[in-house]
Amino acid sequence: MNNTEAKRLKIRAKKHLGQHFLTDENIARKIVESLGSSGYDQILEIGPGTGVLTKYLLEKNQKLFLSEIDVESIDFLKVNFPENINENTFVGDFLKINIDEKFAEQIAVIGNFPYNISSQILFKIVESFQKIPEMVGMFQKEVAQRIAAVPRNKDYGILSVLVQAYYDVEYLFTVSENVFNPPPKVKSGVIKLTRNVKNGLENNEEIFKKIVKAGFNQRRKKLSNALKIIDIPENLKSHPFMDCRAEELSVEDFINFAKLWKGETKIF
Ligand code: SAH
Repeated sequence: MNNTEAKRLKIRAKKHLGQHFLTDENIARKIVESLGSSGYDQILEIGPGTGVLTKYLLEKNQKLFLSEIDVESIDFLKVNFPENINENTFVGDFLKINIDEKFAEQIAVIGNFPYNISSQILFKIVESFQKIPEMVGMFQKEVAQRIAAVPRNKDYGILSVLVQAYYDVEYLFTVSENVFNPPPKVKSGVIKLTRNVKNGLENNEEIFKKIVKAGFNQRRKKLSNALKIIDIPENLKSHPFMDCRAEELSVEDFINFAKLWKGETKIF
């Protein structure tokens, strides 16, 4: 394929890859501008597709890496941005990269994420929080709302607590389905994550996640019941939190609770 052919190439959106190409340049620019300008040395864009965000990211003069699995999009980007994008720019399937090994320096993450795997993408980002100080990402609106939700709200759940323990979350704006080709069935929401101060969970991360998951898996029940699935240590059986439902606890409450949790826990 020569350059002229590739530039003319119309990429056919592939449903199984979650491809919906953003067609509104102002929104693309706004998403890229939402990324802060310090605290990281390089940027990783997940799912660049035909590069609607990528071209604005290139203006930032930071080292840019791209994670894309669609070979047609990869060819398109290499041909259309020959000075900036080549084989070495690509890091492969996001769900398969080892972020800590791949990137030595702090890296910001951005993307209009494929919705079918957006929660997996998010959890992977949170797992690598020590490398990722910031993320700006587009999700399906309901998911974005759940990530940003506050206690005593129906959207507040596992996603909210596990993310907010590591990042401050800002819901930036909603995006209509009409600015994509092809249009998705749902609206989208753009959120920004900014790594927050240390939560001190180093030795309690595992139990923290177990408490959050067990608590919200039976969200109508008080924690004294919902947490029976994990062995509740004696010192916490009469803790006031046991009388609450998971959605009544703040992220800090969950963190403190996990820190108080002592001894071995068994999952049945
Ligand atoms: N950023 C573009 C495309 C968004 S669509 C735009 O806004 O127009 C989502 C993109 O994610 C697609 O290009 C799809 O090929 C890519 N993608 C899907 N699964 C992926 C994965 N596991 N890793 C990296 N990219 C992926």
